[in-house]
Amino acid sequence: MTGAPVLRRFDAAVLGGGIVGMSCALHLQKRGLAVAVIDRDRPGRGASYGHAGLVERSSVIPYAFPRRLGELLRHAARRGSAVSYDPMFLPRIAPWLVRYWWHSAPARLRRAGADILPLIERSVAEHEALAAEAGASALLMDRGWIEVCRDDAALRRAADHAAGMAAFGLDAAVLDRAALAALEPGLLPAAIGGIHWRDPRTTTDPAGLVNRYAALFESRDGALLRGDARTLAPAPEGWGLATAGGDLRAAQVVLALGAASAEVYRPLGYRLPLEAKRGHHLHFAQPSGGGLNRPVADEVNGFVLSPMAQGLRLATGIDLSPPGAPPAQGQMARARARASELVPLGDPVERAPWVGLRPCLPDMRPVIGPAPRHPGLWFAFGHAHHGFTLGPATGRLVAEMMTGDTPFADPAPFRAERFAGR
Ligand SMILES: Cc1cc2nc3c(=O)[nH]c(=O)nc-3n(C[C@H](O)[C@H](O)[C@H](O)COP(=O)(O)OP(=O)(O)OC[C@H]3O[C@@H](n4cnc5c(N)ncnc54)[C@H](O)[C@@H]3O)c2cc1C
Repeated sequence: MTGAPVLRRFDAAVLGGGIVGMSCALHLQKRGLAVAVIDRDRPGRGASYGHAGLVERSSVIPYAFPRRLGELLRHAARRGSAVSYDPMFLPRIAPWLVRYWWHSAPARLRRAGADILPLIERSVAEHEALAAEAGASALLMDRGWIEVCRDDAALRRAADHAAGMAAFGLDAAVLDRAALAALEPGLLPAAIGGIHWRDPRTTTDPAGLVNRYAALFESRDGALLRGDARTLAPAPEGWGLATAGGDLRAAQVVLALGAASAEVYRPLGYRLPLEAKRGHHLHFAQPSGGGLNRPVADEVNGFVLSPMAQGLRLATGIDLSPPGAPPAQGQMARARARASELVPLGDPVERAPWVGLRPCLPDMRPVIGPAPRHPGLWFAFGHAHHGFTLGPATGRLVAEMMTGDTPFADPAPFRAERFAGR
């Protein structure tokens, strides 16, 4: 903090104006709290800017570490675009990768899926409620997304998987070539069929949606402030923080900095195994008269093509490289080559790919709940591949816990205490 006079006092300060932080702020505000959101940038400029746009209601199994040798070797060879890595970086995160691998064993993965399911099940309803209040329902499309297949064997495997998901009550249609072409006439013949996952919602403007949530927050007297969350420090009335407009005090604080959350919890003595899986996107001009009506994913090659306000967004899989490293151009080039077999890509809209950080815990669950040793501090980070999906449901859960309401889902699996050395 700066030592400047305290200018403003709040019931709660939310650190981070991504989808998770903005959702926490809106839900706290609904419960009558005076709330500030502090970000070093405008809301929705972190990972929440550049994702693939899926409210992934159909993702009832978390994104696991590959357990089959063939799959592992394929990723290790870095021939596809699903996985990329910096060999010099792997030793640094090797203990984390081993834990991730351990938690990805089938029985543990099922447990993780069951723990997160109540949040996933709530994802669409919570987004729709916030979007309606923000007057942004048009930014949340009800067209689902398509998992595209390139040969009959792949389509049979995908259809078997979709049939297995019927137990979760998911609505998935198997598309042959004609049905696929009817939905997505812009796809090239390499796409021979697919699965239409119809429960998810999608957006064409992830940052725009967060901005609408931020505008709703401000219209209800929320304070959107610029500041560095690392200035957080315990203060007599709770917590203190320096912002561009002066110091503030808050009785309670929510830490929702995504992949940067460790920069605040580590100095407070917490040792949580949070790492970032990088992901990239690049926009291409939509071909005139062609393009896509909804996101199309090529799961085998590890990319999603999403129609966005800026153009056709090609979003890539996982890149295990230092957070600040230059973009993984090779991975993007491989994704681009495979994507252009599915849809004619126009010129890239930007010169360099955007890089985003997925905040990941090795047991594939976010950390949501009270900080074990600091009363008034709450954690809400680590949503990995599904932070856009889970942001609004997380906001509700955090606000319910902070205000003493009955939580809509069991928060126990998300407690920080599950990690030794916390
Ligand atoms: C390529 C890609 C595709 C993805 N696709 C999907 C998808 O389709 N569906 C889905 O559900 N999820 C998807 N994800 C994951 C999703 O983007 C993230 O899980 C989610 O955006 C995390 O949100 P967050 O609010 O926790 O973090 P962020 O959006 O990163 O927000 C953190 C905020 O903290 C701020 N901040 C950081 N440090 C400081 C500081 N010191 N002081 C002040 N402010 C600070 C940042 O400016 C930022 O605004 C994807 C991710 C990637 C990379």
